Amino acid sequence: MTLDFTPENVPVPVGHYIGGTLVTPAGEREIDVNRPSDGKFFASIPDASADTVDHAVSSALRAAKESGWSTCAPRERTRALYRWAELIEQDVVLLQLESACSTRPVTLAKSGDVASAAETIRFFAELADKEGGDHFATCHSKLGFSAAEPYGVIGAITPWNFPLSMAAWKCGPALATGNAIVIKPSEMTPFSTVRLAELAVLAGIPSGVLNVIHGLGATAGAQLVAHPAVGKISFTGSPVTGAAIMTNAANNGIKPVTLELGGKSPQLVFEKVNDLAQVANCISGGFTGNAGQVCVAGTRLIVHKNIADELIEKIQQNIVRCEPGLTWNSASRYSPIINKPQADKIHSIVCHAREQGADILTGGTFFPETGNGAFYRPTLIAGVTNDMDVVCREVFGPVLTIQTFTDEDEGIALANDTVYGLAAGVYTRDLSQGMRAIRAIEAGTVWVNRYGRSQDFIIPTGGFKMSGIGKDLGRAAMEACQRYKSVLIDF
Ligand code: NAD
Repeated sequence: MTLDFTPENVPVPVGHYIGGTLVTPAGEREIDVNRPSDGKFFASIPDASADTVDHAVSSALRAAKESGWSTCAPRERTRALYRWAELIEQDVVLLQLESACSTRPVTLAKSGDVASAAETIRFFAELADKEGGDHFATCHSKLGFSAAEPYGVIGAITPWNFPLSMAAWKCGPALATGNAIVIKPSEMTPFSTVRLAELAVLAGIPSGVLNVIHGLGATAGAQLVAHPAVGKISFTGSPVTGAAIMTNAANNGIKPVTLELGGKSPQLVFEKVNDLAQVANCISGGFTGNAGQVCVAGTRLIVHKNIADELIEKIQQNIVRCEPGLTWNSASRYSPIINKPQADKIHSIVCHAREQGADILTGGTFFPETGNGAFYRPTLIAGVTNDMDVVCREVFGPVLTIQTFTDEDEGIALANDTVYGLAAGVYTRDLSQGMRAIRAIEAGTVWVNRYGRSQDFIIPTGGFKMSGIGKDLGRAAMEACQRYKSVLIDF
């Protein structure tokens, strides 16, 4: 069966999803949502008022208290989450909503985003009865233990890149630990999250356990963070928003936050590697995947000067294969930029680098033949210094800067010279050198002789420095969705 589809024919869930029902309260402002591939209008969403946010949180709180979701045997949640994962994998509407209004080409959305979302849910389903607290050594006539308890209602806020995967990362651990959740997807890519919630109810997860509100960050998002009944905030997005959320959470109940923020991840290539072509493949994919709109995009190539020319040539050979295409066309692989303003921002950072004396080796322009869609060419930039915006700011586009080094310490120092610390790639065939680099690099994730996540959801992900606080995925995500009560019993 072909995956090609016509975006006008995709049924769009209209409104917020609260208590198992789509709701469109009167008087809320409408926000247009456009398709990144061609810039055309797709559908609109309401901007949640304070009353709507309160309705969603109240619905979640009621479900947490009354539906049995938080008090049932954990394996009951396991079974429901497994049913949900099956529906996620099979649902054509979910796939088409994800690819029509996000940057994910349908073929990749099916094999990547949808498959990964389903598997993420299964992973957390399997942990539901395995993360319950701890038992402590005390004297013989006492018993000391910690009991893990859900927060009740978790507020989640997600970005526009990988909307489905990000929603699964947030919902999986929150629901497996018995919480209810109110999630606000990005106003640019809101619809697949609603479909995800509809499928949850179809899978037998009680209505009200998973609610979706739409709206802008400054209104709906901020109100969700501040709501007194929300016990914890789990956020993925930019550092500026992360800081605003942290302040808001501090001022409204001192609630805990998990912040998965941006990055400017180095790709450190030492002189002796196993296979330079394989390194080139990792680096090409690391900055062109989703057209660079990836938090862990490896956008700073730091390469030993003796192999730099050969490596750059191989990367150039790889990236000529990136061709623009509509996301609903099954042959498309290369992503559009989310919208024209974001593409213009990418271009202006590249132009500024050129004015500052940097050398644009490849790219630096839009693809011309793409109508209103904003497709940006993979761009290689040499002759840069660490103080240039293109090197120190998150560009969030397919732009790779190139710097060279001659000795190990110099390479590691360049890799660490950033306010971010999300991820890093290290390429070497010398195990000791790789180990030294792992120890020295300040990043929440270090990949060695590969770049990018795998299906090993047990490995947590999260940033150091300005890239965030706390972890998604892994056991750490389950811990982050629970609070721990210390108990001491005399007998
Ligand atoms: P963003 O920070 O602009 O928006 C993210 C979400 O926050 C959106 O839903 C938005 O509506 C909401 N928001 C905005 N202001 C808010 C406020 N004051 N209060 C509450 N919510 C608010 O980010 P974006 O542009 O959508 O996404 C791109 C960013 O996300 C990049 O920096 C990227 O690196 C980061 N990201 C990080 C990870 C990770 O795992 N570390 C994953 C994906 C994306």
